[in-house]
Amino acid sequence: MSTTPFTDLVQPAPAGPALAASARGLTKTYGRGDAQVHALRGVDLDVPAGRFTAVMGTSGSGKSTLMHCLAGLDQPTAGSVTIAGRRLDGLGDDELTRFRRDHVGFVFQAFNLLPMLIAGQNILLPFELAGRKVDAGVRARYDEVVATLGLGDRLGHRPGELSGGQQQRVAIARALVAQPAIVFADEPTGNLDSDTSAEVLGFLRRCVRELGQTVVMVTHELDAAAYADDVVVLADGTVRAHLVEPDADRLVATLRPSGTGHLGTGGHGGVAR
Ligand code: ADP
Ligand code: MG
Repeated sequence: MSTTPFTDLVQPAPAGPALAASARGLTKTYGRGDAQVHALRGVDLDVPAGRFTAVMGTSGSGKSTLMHCLAGLDQPTAGSVTIAGRRLDGLGDDELTRFRRDHVGFVFQAFNLLPMLIAGQNILLPFELAGRKVDAGVRARYDEVVATLGLGDRLGHRPGELSGGQQQRVAIARALVAQPAIVFADEPTGNLDSDTSAEVLGFLRRCVRELGQTVVMVTHELDAAAYADDVVVLADGTVRAHLVEPDADRLVATLRPSGTGHLGTGGHGGVAR
């Protein structure tokens, strides 16, 4: 690092897009000795606010580890993560839990809804658990999120009475209702058929366009990545490329491991655009 603390104090913030998240020198090593796995090997990444970013890479390239470290769900071995201007490594356990609750949303492949609660209760569960009041501001945000995700007529149903796509939309609404600085989604359409996936991805993109939400989504499907603005390609624990609004040809060329004619994804290769 070349900057001194003094110049940090007096220099204006650099011009450019606001960052929802950034990582510097992010390293994650699992195990020790012969069993050591270097899941992340020094990742530098800036995630601009208000955009839909897809993270792609072969299985084992470190996508989930990166998401968990960025979201503060897992501790990196080295390096730093900054979310909404706040460095996570400076936070204690309780502070981190509170910070995550207020500023970070996470959507899982398996929806993780509570089966005995109706959709509306599932969406407001984070507020319930935190003992926070659902005031007029929260109510307004709830209404906005529910409308954007097309859930208005499903709020009184339990997860078991909803389709997979509707369940995932409820999970997305739950992640958005606290108006987090950033929402991470790890293979959010991994349990959905292709028609339902397209529908969920369309709604996720609406959240970015219409609510100004920042979303980072892991996917290994080119079709899914086509819904994103930008694509980060991971390979063997490092960022191989960060493509801004790539077209299909550029994306395919970047994903192809050098020296082979094959795509490095488990997907079926068709890009929907
Ligand atoms: P991806 O999501 O891209 O498939 P992961 O981040 O899950 O990749 O994994 C990256 C590497 O780290 C893989 O080699 C994986 O086996 C390893 N790994 C992930 N989690 C653990 C863990 N808890 N313990 C040991 N190794 C792990
Ligand atoms: Mg993964």
